[in-house]
Amino acid sequence: MQGVELTSVTKQYAHGVTALDDVTIAFRTGTFTAVMGPSGSGKSTLLQCAAGLDRPTSGQVTVDGRDLSGLSDKQLTLLRRDRIGFVFQAFNLLPSLTATQNVGLPLRLAGRRPDPELVRQSLAAVGLAGRAGHRPAEMSGGQQQRVAIARALVTRPAVLFADEPTGALDANTSREVLQLLRALVDRHAQTIVMVTHDPVAASYADRVVFLADGRVYGELADPTAELVA
Ligand code: ADP
Ligand code: ADP
Repeated sequence: MQGVELTSVTKQYAHGVTALDDVTIAFRTGTFTAVMGPSGSGKSTLLQCAAGLDRPTSGQVTVDGRDLSGLSDKQLTLLRRDRIGFVFQAFNLLPSLTATQNVGLPLRLAGRRPDPELVRQSLAAVGLAGRAGHRPAEMSGGQQQRVAIARALVTRPAVLFADEPTGALDANTSREVLQLLRALVDRHAQTIVMVTHDPVAASYADRVVFLADGRVYGELADPTAELVA
């Protein structure tokens, strides 16, 4: 399957904590999934296992059909670098660098010369072509998060994982970022998995998966209709 697929994934930490308990879930290419659930329900662990940041205790994770358990730690690092994008609540931009330079960083870290065309396209995809030379302090919170999204997209990842991407933003700015994520899915068939506590944010997704105690206990297939009455 194209996309990311978890099959019977269980993750146990030391001291007997079962963070994920036999989770089977697919994030298909071109879909936008929101993951909700109380604190401690396993959302971060799910993202970490799906992104190859952590290895499950048992079960299988595949990215575009490739079984991650067959990869060495080094291969896993490369796959993460080249095929996975991450966005967090804190934008984590480098303050001394311009938008162009921040977006080019993943290419530099991959030992590539930042291809100006790739960087330009990423900034255009988030609607910031006109802010290429601005530094983070010269941009609004929403613009900074959009730069962080452009940075995550510059390698053209198979999937973009967003962990509370609107957690630090006010309602209007959140909407701007969510509309952007929606547009990336609709126009570029970008696969997105977003963890959120906010039902309004989740309503932008194609479906919502609910976690509790490390298990999937429910799913909404039409969140816009169900969550925003
Ligand atoms: P969420 O993101 O929904 O808050 P987490 O995936 O962070 O949930 O945590 C799920 C469970 O696993 C919790 O009980 C948490 O305390 C535990 N946990 C998470 N990370 C670790 C770790 N590195 N070591 C031990 N226990 C952990
Ligand atoms: P806008 O309408 O804001 O100009 P477009 O939808 O035309 O944005 O896309 C802008 C650029 O983004 C295009 O050149 C396209 O090649 C590039 N692009 C397409 N898919 C992605 C993606 N997943 N990540 C980053 N850039 C992309």
